[in-house]
Amino acid sequence: MRAAVLHEIGQDKLEVLDDVEAVGFGPGKVRIRVRATGLCHSDVSAMSGVLPQPAPFIPGHEGAGEILDIGDGVAGLTPGQRVLLCWLPACGTCPACKRGQTQLCLAGFMNAGTPNFKRPGGDVFGFAGTGTFTEEVVVDAGCAVPIPDDVPYDIAALIGCGVTTGLGAAINTAKVEAGSSVAVIGCGGVGISAIQGAKLQGAAQIIAVDPVESRREAALRFGATEAIAPDALADAKQRITAGEGFDYVFEVVGKSATARTAYDTTRRGGTLCIVGAGALDDHLQLNMFELFFDEKRILPSMYGGGDVLTSYERTIALWRAGRVDLESLITHRVPLAGINEALEQMRTGTALRTCIEI
Ligand SMILES: [Zn+2]
Ligand SMILES: [Zn+2]
Repeated sequence: MRAAVLHEIGQDKLEVLDDVEAVGFGPGKVRIRVRATGLCHSDVSAMSGVLPQPAPFIPGHEGAGEILDIGDGVAGLTPGQRVLLCWLPACGTCPACKRGQTQLCLAGFMNAGTPNFKRPGGDVFGFAGTGTFTEEVVVDAGCAVPIPDDVPYDIAALIGCGVTTGLGAAINTAKVEAGSSVAVIGCGGVGISAIQGAKLQGAAQIIAVDPVESRREAALRFGATEAIAPDALADAKQRITAGEGFDYVFEVVGKSATARTAYDTTRRGGTLCIVGAGALDDHLQLNMFELFFDEKRILPSMYGGGDVLTSYERTIALWRAGRVDLESLITHRVPLAGINEALEQMRTGTALRTCIEI
């Protein structure tokens, strides 16, 4: 079957090959025919080595499709069923799951060292235990989450990562209060979703911060009250909050430099929500005096910071009611053969989300 493979960490292009096989099918597993997958920034970060990932590997972790086959012992799923792929399946029995923090379940990472694919040349890994830039993938049954008939594959794919992450950061983690002031630094698919979440929560001001003009324009369409380039942020803080800082600042880039800016842009006693996925060797520096004296709450948000399945259901309900716009997040569409075009659109910031139709 066809799949897009990264041969070595650090390469910036994928090779679409037709000699790949999805492996590992058996008890507790399902085989899925992928129909749509989004390109998330984490895929690019894994390719460049910012996020740890063994190679060669197939990127993609935000996908949807239909079940082809179920292994022994799989309950509640049937062949032909439409599902989205959850890259962080909850085991249901670990301490994190028992507390209701299924986004912190590590069960999905236990398979991280096991290849999901093979080629005549050898083993191939799947990113984050999935790997959706492919026609078929074999995953744990917990990764296959049934979707209602009215949710198209492209929308379901987005719910599988970016939208859940951004909306959840505003709703579950930061719990943005009505009437508050919000700044969102980094306005790709996840940042835009955080903006939509802040709007749902009733924020009075939502300032979108991004160096790319087309993203700033998009942010305004999705509910930002103002959109500025990063060099105008200090000015905006002065003008909008009388220098005090914003009630909530979302860092959706994943770099210590932007996190530091976000910290400085948060008001004393306000909330800095870290959403971006950054590198192991990129350290954020804070001094112990400011940490104590300014009482800023630093709240990291992983995969929406709440129970993942509950987050999916909420997103679908909001989308169905017309309260969140997911269709407009998909600014570009390409077939699997156009995957490198999609990567370019991600790197130049021209796409909010590129949907790869397989
Ligand atoms: Zn668990
Ligand atoms: Zn993602």
